[in-house]
Amino acid sequence: MALHWLLGGRASFPIANVEDEPPGGAVTAIVVSAVLLAGAVAGLLSARSSSRRAPIGLVVATSTAALGTFGLAMSGVGIIATGSVERPFALLAQLFALVGALLLFGTTQVQLRRRRSRCPRCGGCHPVALRPDAPLVRGTARQASTRTRRTAYLVLLGLLPWASVKVVWGFGGSALGVTPDEWRVAMDDTDVSTLGRLLEHFGIDITVVASLVGVLLVLALLQRWGLYVPRWLVLLPAWIGGVSLPLYGVPLAVWGSLTLAGVTPASSDSEPFTPTGLAWMVLFGGAAFAGLGTALAIGARSYQRRSQPLCALP
Ligand SMILES: [Zn+2]
Repeated sequence: MALHWLLGGRASFPIANVEDEPPGGAVTAIVVSAVLLAGAVAGLLSARSSSRRAPIGLVVATSTAALGTFGLAMSGVGIIATGSVERPFALLAQLFALVGALLLFGTTQVQLRRRRSRCPRCGGCHPVALRPDAPLVRGTARQASTRTRRTAYLVLLGLLPWASVKVVWGFGGSALGVTPDEWRVAMDDTDVSTLGRLLEHFGIDITVVASLVGVLLVLALLQRWGLYVPRWLVLLPAWIGGVSLPLYGVPLAVWGSLTLAGVTPASSDSEPFTPTGLAWMVLFGGAAFAGLGTALAIGARSYQRRSQPLCALP
């Protein structure tokens, strides 16, 4: 697919408008596909290699595959909010990249464990050759460390300004100089799903509901009760959000801040916002995505370690 994009094809390109044009045009397409292609080559060369540099190649390949999932969490929210898939081929490409990233992650982990003379199955300090058929058992369930929990909850606060604006509109107040009616008129240009409209009727914004589901997921990752939920059911969405959301949120937050600081020019097409109001909304949205995503990544890392089953040795 990356080769197809590099040669000028645009179908299924992960970040693009409805006309399949990526932001920044051909330059973006060439840079993104070259990076993805380099990652694919690094993966092919290192997956079965036992050289010292193989794990580095695998880490590069895993990271580029993770970059290829860009926008997956947003596609998911988009499907719930509008009830339709805007660009099905792009979603397919993102899912492809996700499967690749998961397989590469597993391969990297096994390679790194072998290198450290650890068990490739569970990462424990024992050679697997002794009991290759030993059953895997989970340790006692415990919550994440205080430091991990505090850090995750702190970055979650990034959601607050954005969610507050949405809630103020939901209850009929004006925020950032925009009345709820003006916001609704602007939103009617995009199609909203039946569920979205129903929630809107009660003054509830569907994206706020989606972010609350994300907060619940962060709690499952950090608290003891989360360890009683099937491992993949918690880790898969957590890693998708943990990789996808900051990739989206950080550039938005930087862009919003630079506009507010007067470094980059404000958008001329900011209706219904004033140009400054729009910059604040972009900053708030970026902080929300980045905050939730980072909290998910921190939680997923901790959960993965605490839920790792170990070989039961006699
Ligand atoms: Zn083991």
